[in-house]
Amino acid sequence: MGDPLETYRRMRDFGRTPEPAGEVGEREGAPRFVVQRHRASRLHYDVRFEIDGVLVSWAVPKGPTLDPSARRLAMHVEDHPIEYLDFEGVIPSGEYGGGDVIVWDIGTWEPVKTDDARAAVDGGELHAEVHGRKLRGRFVLVRRGDDGGSGEPWMMLHKRDEHAVEGWDPEDHPRSVLSGRTNDEVLADPHRLWRSDAPAAEAAVSLLPEALPDSAIDELASLGTQGTWDVFGRRLKVTNLDKVLFPGDPPVTKRELLAYTARIAPTALPYLEGRALNLHRYPDGAESKGFWHKERPRHAPEWLGAWDNEEADEGETETYVVADEPAALVWAANFGALEWHPWTSRTSAPHEPTYALIDLDPGTSTSWDDLLVLARLHRTALDHLGVTARAKVTGRRGIQVWVPVVEGYTFEDTRAWVEKLSRTVGKVVPELVSWKWEVRARKGLARLDYTQNAINKTLVAPYSPRPGPEAPVSVPIAWDELDDPDLRPDRWTIRTVLDRVSERGDPFRALLGAAQELPEIS
Ligand code: MN
Repeated sequence: MGDPLETYRRMRDFGRTPEPAGEVGEREGAPRFVVQRHRASRLHYDVRFEIDGVLVSWAVPKGPTLDPSARRLAMHVEDHPIEYLDFEGVIPSGEYGGGDVIVWDIGTWEPVKTDDARAAVDGGELHAEVHGRKLRGRFVLVRRGDDGGSGEPWMMLHKRDEHAVEGWDPEDHPRSVLSGRTNDEVLADPHRLWRSDAPAAEAAVSLLPEALPDSAIDELASLGTQGTWDVFGRRLKVTNLDKVLFPGDPPVTKRELLAYTARIAPTALPYLEGRALNLHRYPDGAESKGFWHKERPRHAPEWLGAWDNEEADEGETETYVVADEPAALVWAANFGALEWHPWTSRTSAPHEPTYALIDLDPGTSTSWDDLLVLARLHRTALDHLGVTARAKVTGRRGIQVWVPVVEGYTFEDTRAWVEKLSRTVGKVVPELVSWKWEVRARKGLARLDYTQNAINKTLVAPYSPRPGPEAPVSVPIAWDELDDPDLRPDRWTIRTVLDRVSERGDPFRALLGAAQELPEIS
């Protein structure tokens, strides 16, 4: 066999790129395998084994199964570059393999009965012991047709070992093992693009917001107690930079808050833009009493987004701030806004919520474990209903769940739906929940607060700081993190959350572009 990537290279469109690539590399440690669920012109699963630095691949229309009675057609296709191993995202339509891809399973594997996996493939029979998250145990791939390059029919089966499961269907396990997302959710908000026309090392293109350059943070650090900061293309007057805003060791200064705000702004912006922003201001720091500030101040810079509420009555806020660009959030932080509260509706349709909000509000005797029980029950209910939603910890004591909805609902609609859902959940654990309006009457029990689904009622924004020690942050989590024993409602602060976001991404991005109709709850 010649260069194992030759066929892959041939299938790319070289008319658009001058430089062929895809270095065949070696790697220490156990070889890896991946299964990608790929919706191209037809749904199939790509089963790929790392062999000699490339991914030897089969396309399995019905997907691999643990069912030992099943025999699955597996088309042996061209080797893929190793860079494709953890690719999840979209391949532009019109390009080779155009469609959406999730990492359905990933892990390590070892060839059985041979040390030379490539020779086994060439010989038409590969026995593989796989250690994945979904797939485990012994698989066998056997060539059925004659030897003839790529696109030849093989058969894939699972041995009758201790990992075999009769009747097991891969379609019952549709989520990515990397992001927890389905193909639909990845298609709605892809984080990466695979450009089949580019060299393998450059083919994965990030679609996530661009980070703030370090030089901007250096510039902020070099300012005195006040000055002019060039950030995101705007000149901002920043003041009282060494003022302590949060207790901590060391305490958190305004300079540190502004640096955090600028760095998180590109990630937080999709949840703020196009919405009126209620600012919770603490100009004297988190230990003083805060107050709501809704009116856009007259001294605000001209470029700062604004929205006139034409329905404002006498004495009500007339003009709101709208954070339509990252610099706007930095402006708000410099203005003493420690918390950012965007409206649930957009300024273009203030009476139409874009999210149904589930606010799990602990009472004085609600333990963290109690709250997790309530959150997991909501997870189960939403999953059962087939609804896309994500949870976030509030940075204080609570958990909230955000459910994106299509346009056309009123706040009455979303409030009624959330009430129905939460009452159904509450019936399972009546000992944990109170439906009493008055705090005293709740006897320390948790409240499942559907009443936040109302115009101009707001929940704290994803990634907003909260007024507590070390500046805790309200942080979106993946559903399975509800089972993480280290999860706490105030686990992350402005000093730790940026690392988390750069490592794990933003779980709430699954909600963007996932607006849905709310199913009937019976
Ligand atoms: Mn494919």
